[in-house]
Amino acid sequence: MQPSRLNTSLVNLLNFNQAQLAEYFVGLGEKPFRAKQMMRWMHHFGVSDFAQMTDIAKSLREKLQIEAEISPPTVQLEQVSDDGTRKWLIGTDTTNSIETVFIPEDDRGTLCVSSQVGCALECTFCSTGRQGFNRNLSVSEIIGQLWLANKSLRQADGYDMLPASERIISNVVMMGMGEPLTNYDNVVTAMQIMLDDSAYGLSRRRVTLSTSGIVPAMNRLKEDCPVALAVSLHAPNDALRDQIVPINKKYPLKELMAACERYLVKAPRDFVTFEYVMLDGVNDTVEHAHQLLDVVKNVPCKFNLIPFNPFPNSGYETSKPSHIRVFRDILMQAGYVVTVRKTRGEDIDAACGQLAGKVLDKTKRSMKIPIKAVA
Ligand code: SF4
Repeated sequence: MQPSRLNTSLVNLLNFNQAQLAEYFVGLGEKPFRAKQMMRWMHHFGVSDFAQMTDIAKSLREKLQIEAEISPPTVQLEQVSDDGTRKWLIGTDTTNSIETVFIPEDDRGTLCVSSQVGCALECTFCSTGRQGFNRNLSVSEIIGQLWLANKSLRQADGYDMLPASERIISNVVMMGMGEPLTNYDNVVTAMQIMLDDSAYGLSRRRVTLSTSGIVPAMNRLKEDCPVALAVSLHAPNDALRDQIVPINKKYPLKELMAACERYLVKAPRDFVTFEYVMLDGVNDTVEHAHQLLDVVKNVPCKFNLIPFNPFPNSGYETSKPSHIRVFRDILMQAGYVVTVRKTRGEDIDAACGQLAGKVLDKTKRSMKIPIKAVA
């Protein structure tokens, strides 16, 4: 018979990395090595029922039934696009939700993970930024996105508990809703779990954090958890970046580029990926491309050009394909690797920039019209 759960404040073990879990077990009077076993059951096998953890002593399992839980966030909706892209709408409270997106490609499967409900940074081209900030996600809500996606993809492949022979999710990008570096501690703990061999065992090259440029946190990240770095650049001069990525007023381009150079001393990749959303008539001219080359000249990097995905009242248009080609060619002729992001999952609103979810707009920011171009 299962012990009854009388404790109403159960400890959610999904909030812990292995070191924290070891501390928790020691606090229960158990040996710290239990943490490794638990990480494998929770994350490697995707098990949430203590009763199934057969190599853990029965007495401990019974104790855990009373004290603890493995509680991922709740999936409200799962959608599959014609191109195989999957999107999960995940509830965070009664009014808000976040989105997690899986993008299958020939040589990899990438999960795009959110770090906050909404975002405080007000980038004018971003549907999330227009809706304001609601709250940070907990570790269990961040790592829970990977947990849920793994489980769902395994089930779609006909597996239940056992891991599929090939890893379906090979890469994680912290590029969903929110600025991950303003939820620093929870994001770093979640990424440590992603990298842990007893959990997901992803290499640091396969976990990418995308930031709009929170310089002090970039300096910390290179010491604490130096995963691959992407920077949402989107403008080649301070005047324009101040407008479309307002955090630039605090950490202007010169400081940001210096932080990128410092980061690469510790980074698992020897380049930074600069993301650049292509906004018609705003940041996509030949002159902008040449300014961009000058700005990044000391940072080993590659570029990811992102055709803008329009959303209601954005005030922006996607750059014309011919302008994107000219912009790309200028960068490529200067010797850089440039990719132009393909739009995926458009039929389920999973394309980049559409991760708006159902965040309650407290700010009425979506009513504001963005400012126009600065050359
Ligand atoms: S682009 Fe990123 S940092 Fe900027 S508002 Fe959107 S989610 Fe926030």
